[in-house]
Amino acid sequence: MTTRRDALKTIALTTGALTLGSRLLHAQAPTEVPAVFKLPPLGYDYDALEPFIDAETMKIHHDKHHAAYVSKLNQAIAGAPGFESKPIEEILTNLDAVPEAVRKDIRNHGGGHANHALFWQTLKKSEKGKPVGELAKAIDTAFGSFAKFQDDFGTAATKVFGSGWVWLVWKGKKLTIESTPNQDSPYSTGGRPLLGIDVWEHAYYLKYQNRRADYIKAFQSVVNWDFVSERFAKAGK
Ligand code: MN
Repeated sequence: MTTRRDALKTIALTTGALTLGSRLLHAQAPTEVPAVFKLPPLGYDYDALEPFIDAETMKIHHDKHHAAYVSKLNQAIAGAPGFESKPIEEILTNLDAVPEAVRKDIRNHGGGHANHALFWQTLKKSEKGKPVGELAKAIDTAFGSFAKFQDDFGTAATKVFGSGWVWLVWKGKKLTIESTPNQDSPYSTGGRPLLGIDVWEHAYYLKYQNRRADYIKAFQSVVNWDFVSERFAKAGK
């Protein structure tokens, strides 16, 4: 049974916690910035790509890593008045227009946001998936065959030193394979990314540890080629 003394003690503790809580909130207020950019939903369950990409990796990658890029991009964009209304792809296409004080942060975190936002959409378990329509033809023209493209893309991903991405890019009216360091975006060098593989260790280390080649091979089984083909069809050629 609760005595009056216990009840008073509870009230005192609760009041203390509330006071502390509001003080903490108050202390954080000056650094809070508007959520101009938002973390897009993954669009499917964390375990949808198992066993090729594990649920735990997907959860941390989306909910923590991508969320952190979005949060830091929002801090940076506060230092670039007028840019908060532009799509991130447009900002990345012309980084020189961004105020110098926040340019590096927007390149890194804006790139991180755009790269991951595309990445989630290009993934779907599809072990026998392949490009269709115009993209299938353009890949044959550019690389010889889809199998050759897969080899070249995988080799490029193996060769990335440190953290970065490898992309299938539409650039200068042709398809190319490009790698970018860190979170640099193909948009910043005049390309339109169609598909990218994230070879930062956070993308695969829980399941594959140092076996990046196994992750790259597994990635080929989770490309949503229908999405990528449609993206190419809309690329404005
Ligand atoms: Mn990543």
